[in-house]
Amino acid sequence: MQTKSTLTHLECGKCGAIYPADQLMNLCTACNRPLLARYDLARAAQTLTRAALAGRAETLWRYEEVLPVQRREAMIQLGEGWTPLIHAQRLGEAIGCPDTWIKDESVNSTGSFKARGLCMGVSRAYELGAKELAIPSAGNAAGAMSAYAAAVALPAYVYMPRDVPSLFQVECRVLGAQVTLIDGLINDCGARVREGVLAHGWFDMSTLKEPYRVEGKKTMGYEVAEQMGWELPDVIIYPTGGGTGMVGMWKAFDEMEQMGLIGSKRPRMVTVQAEHCAPIVRAFNEGTEHAALWEGARTVADGLRVPVAVGDFLVLRAIRESGGTAVAVSDAAMLADALEIGRHTGIFPAPEGAACLAAQRMLLEQGWIRPDERVVLFNTGTGLKYAHLWA
Ligand SMILES: *Cc1c(COP(=O)(O)O)cnc(C)c1O
Repeated sequence: MQTKSTLTHLECGKCGAIYPADQLMNLCTACNRPLLARYDLARAAQTLTRAALAGRAETLWRYEEVLPVQRREAMIQLGEGWTPLIHAQRLGEAIGCPDTWIKDESVNSTGSFKARGLCMGVSRAYELGAKELAIPSAGNAAGAMSAYAAAVALPAYVYMPRDVPSLFQVECRVLGAQVTLIDGLINDCGARVREGVLAHGWFDMSTLKEPYRVEGKKTMGYEVAEQMGWELPDVIIYPTGGGTGMVGMWKAFDEMEQMGLIGSKRPRMVTVQAEHCAPIVRAFNEGTEHAALWEGARTVADGLRVPVAVGDFLVLRAIRESGGTAVAVSDAAMLADALEIGRHTGIFPAPEGAACLAAQRMLLEQGWIRPDERVVLFNTGTGLKYAHLWA
């Protein structure tokens, strides 16, 4: 049976080249940059209405018109999306910004928002006939890919830096993936995946190197809008590694406006990175279009240990077009602010999620965020996989 998807084609985010969407694709073959999925939004708007949404499944699949999967049998479902958006009032009052909210992505399957991207990426790869999947990952993405691949019996090859906490590795093994540990960072893992692609015909699931993980992650933008009564907040603070979430949410807002679900108001998009791995922050401050490789990247926030990103220009574009900013915070600040989130909200955040609070404090102090503004922080994953950091 067909889904309500209105997918029409793929378009390069850099050079605008157009590709058909009915075959497995990685980067733009003309310029090696990310491809983005395009939809017939006029048609989508006929059925993706506020009223229709009210009765739909409480997963990210509720937005099926603007998702790429064509056949219901290919929709892999493990409980992804439609996560709580919680008014963190006591936390907000403690830091002098009472209208502070947390989108709690820790309750996704496999404990992070990576489930959204990999749910979509793996479903679509499966639908288009991929036989084996491979991914370089600093942690959560590998677990999520392993889970969705296992659900449809696709072999999964995972490349991780050797120093990633052992829980992340264990998770992948339990989920049936073949895990290889690399002495290096995620970009070194990416190089090993590319070797496997050439040698064995694996499909490369690296973030933004296939077009559909970003489609899964964009549903965070749809959910924030819907959960806030179709009125976007003033500021969104997002812990940025590869940047798929930033790019996805920015795309979602555009699509929603074209479908008449929201108006032209946009949140100011804030990227948070770790002080010793902040390529996007540096590029933002220097006013460049791309972000150079960050040498010697290190942080306890594994999801932020991404020294170079193929979608850098799309992240920087979202920050700049939104009137946003980019800030770096220390590991010590993340660890301390995780405790603040924990005791004021009942959420055990990943250090990446806690980085959002550290950034919010900085921006409040600088007057960049005003005390009466509505701010959404993304807790992108559960702190449980990183529990050793506070033990
Ligand atoms: C991957 C990851 C990030 C970074 O997400 P991107 O969308 O790739 O920038 C942030 N937090 C956690 C917990 C992650 O696993």
